[in-house]
Amino acid sequence: MSRVWNFSAGPAALPQVVLERAQQEMLDWNGSGASVMEQSHRGKRFIAMAAQAEADLRELLQVPDDYAVLFLQGGATQLFAQIPMNLAGVGDSADYVVSGHWGEKAVSEAAPYVHVNVAASGKPDNYLRLPARDSWQLDPRAAYVHYTPNETIHGVEFHDIPEVGAVPLVADMSSNILSEPLDVTRFGLIYAGAQKNIGPSGLVVMIIRRDLLQRAGRPMARIFRFAEQAANDSMLNTPNTWGWYLAGLTFQWLKAQGGLAAMGEHNRAKAELLYRSVDGSGGYYRNPVDPSARSRMNVPFTLHDSALDAVFLQESETAGLLALKGHKAVGGMRASLYNAVPLEAVAALTDFMRDFSQRHG
Ligand SMILES: *Cc1c(COP(=O)(O)O)cnc(C)c1O
Repeated sequence: MSRVWNFSAGPAALPQVVLERAQQEMLDWNGSGASVMEQSHRGKRFIAMAAQAEADLRELLQVPDDYAVLFLQGGATQLFAQIPMNLAGVGDSADYVVSGHWGEKAVSEAAPYVHVNVAASGKPDNYLRLPARDSWQLDPRAAYVHYTPNETIHGVEFHDIPEVGAVPLVADMSSNILSEPLDVTRFGLIYAGAQKNIGPSGLVVMIIRRDLLQRAGRPMARIFRFAEQAANDSMLNTPNTWGWYLAGLTFQWLKAQGGLAAMGEHNRAKAELLYRSVDGSGGYYRNPVDPSARSRMNVPFTLHDSALDAVFLQESETAGLLALKGHKAVGGMRASLYNAVPLEAVAALTDFMRDFSQRHG
């Protein structure tokens, strides 16, 4: 068996011990004689597992009781639409701070349901820096303020939580949730597609302040209503049982690693190693993002000569370094360094990069 170092942006690397545990339990989960995928979500075993996963997530993020935790389907993209459906009434407006590709998507999916005010955008700077906080045109009557703390494609990350007054702050944390400690009380709603830092795709974890569940400002099918999902423990219909189970195993793994403080240090060390190697390459490699806004999770970089891109990708794959091709919107390379990517993987990458630059000077 040969596992590679996996830098995929998503679906992304999962902790090896999580995969091994799932493998061990595949045929006989928890003494049931069947896999977790093959039994009712209404059964005692599944309900207990689901409750434990929620409890572990609450412990990791210190989620207060006045927040509900939901395990939903449809991906982060569906929430782009569902959030305005639930939080904005007919005629309301919402503020969007756009710092990259996913913020743009959030705007376009929200537009049918709410008047979108783009309060600030990094687009004029090609998303290489964050729009300065004092330039944001926030509306104190907005239904909420939406932003993307980590932009997965552009490699731009907020390193503190913006102060937005009394308007609920909504964050798409798909690519940075659980990567460091977080003050949940600063947010009205946090959501994350699971396939970067939590588990497999097809699951979204959402944390919502309970008072916001009462908003639901328009006629809506029950299945889209956050309040209904909360009242039914995210089991209004059949949930993604397999995803929920794997998320639960990842939460246990995170606790065993020492929780989010330990993950935060680990992730900082990984990102520093890679940025140091890019910046110290004498221009052979380059990351164009403003250093104060560089992402710890997704590191895009270019080679000094793009004619070498194909060779770099081919040789890196041969060296056991997977999925370094950058997103087409940015070009070049991208290394994603989520929780499950160990420091060893980053060391293997930086060694390869140094060696490559010497051989293809
Ligand atoms: C990957 C990603 C998404 C899209 O997630 P889906 O689950 O595919 O809808 C949205 N936002 C961010 C920040 C992402 O990284």
